[in-house]
Amino acid sequence: MSDDCLFCKIVAGDIPATVVRDDERTLAFRDVNPQAPVHVLVVPKRHLPDAAAVLADDPTLLSAMFASAVKVTEDEKLGDGYRLVFNTGKGAGQTVFHAHLHLLGGRDLGWPPG
Ligand code: AMP
Repeated sequence: MSDDCLFCKIVAGDIPATVVRDDERTLAFRDVNPQAPVHVLVVPKRHLPDAAAVLADDPTLLSAMFASAVKVTEDEKLGDGYRLVFNTGKGAGQTVFHAHLHLLGGRDLGWPPG
């Protein structure tokens, strides 16, 4: 755990979140500022700064995040489609430097994204 990390505090239960899935290695919770009717963040419970760091540390943890996201799509009945996004680095809009997979769905998302 990193003391200054928002998502570590959510994982620890020190900051409230609307949790939708909780397994041994990952936590999935609703984004506080949703960009779609369903907007969930899937994070590793271990502090790693971004997706590349997760891959470097343990590729199976990246798989676990993906698997959790897919289960959420089933729970949320997103059979029509969904988007999974890792913003990686400031230039891509990453603001929280604890790896997180955005799951967006529940509306026509369009492509390319705006
Ligand atoms: P990113 O810009 O890719 O780093 O995404 C960070 C996401 O975290 C944004 O979509 C924020 O809305 C979301 N966020 C920030 N604080 C919280 C919080 N306390 N609970 C849930 N989501 C949050």
